[in-house]
Amino acid sequence: MNVVSIIRGGSFASALIIFTLLQTVIPSRKFEKGRWKYSLSNLLLVGFNNLFLGLLPIIPYQMAVTAENKSWGLLNIFEIPLVVSIILGILILDVTIYFQHRLFHQVHFLWRLHSMHHVDPMLDTSSGLRFHPLEIIISNFIKVTIILIIGISPLTVIIFEIALNVLSMFNHSNIKIHQNIENVLNKLLITPAIHTIHHSKIFTETNSNYGFSVPWWDMLFKTFTLQGKYPQEKINIGIPNMPETKYQRFPYMLIQPFLKGK
Ligand SMILES: [Zn+2]
Repeated sequence: MNVVSIIRGGSFASALIIFTLLQTVIPSRKFEKGRWKYSLSNLLLVGFNNLFLGLLPIIPYQMAVTAENKSWGLLNIFEIPLVVSIILGILILDVTIYFQHRLFHQVHFLWRLHSMHHVDPMLDTSSGLRFHPLEIIISNFIKVTIILIIGISPLTVIIFEIALNVLSMFNHSNIKIHQNIENVLNKLLITPAIHTIHHSKIFTETNSNYGFSVPWWDMLFKTFTLQGKYPQEKINIGIPNMPETKYQRFPYMLIQPFLKGK
């Protein structure tokens, strides 16, 4: 196992444990009875994705190494200080993920794949990892394209991927955050309260708050919703036509996007 895998694995495991503990001690919503079955399904899906797509999350990193060695991409043409190139690279990757998320909501076939993430009827830390393997493959393809065009460094890719993974777990967590802290935090990060609005069954709310890390892209491109129709504890989470319960759980969740009429 190389150093990159150890850092990625360590940050993933630490964040999963810390946010799971926090949401158990200070939950925002009362956990529904039988919720553990959904959380377990989400974690089984993570195991499945890692087993069958194990090498894929590393592909953007490997392509960044290739781009750096061959001096491909805009950032490799100019002499740019390391810090500036890292910040620029992270911002470019993050705005790409924002638009990719919008695309997954707007293109019918992509929405079918992404809807598997949205049919989770309640959110907890494990929901932040619940993505269809085909969505992960398409996302990696988009990321690699941007990495090669811009010439984003391997270090930048690793920092970004770890941050995205940890922040996705954070903003899906069922952690209660004091309103005073929330008021400051939601200007800097996508908080669980902000992301829960994205998981609302109300169409206009689902089609807002697309960011996974910072709320700035939503603010800039006018897709930010600070307060939905209902208060946090009353938000109805899911999609309007929820599939049969078994299709919301592993391994049936893998075929849910291909169900007739969904
Ligand atoms: Zn979404």
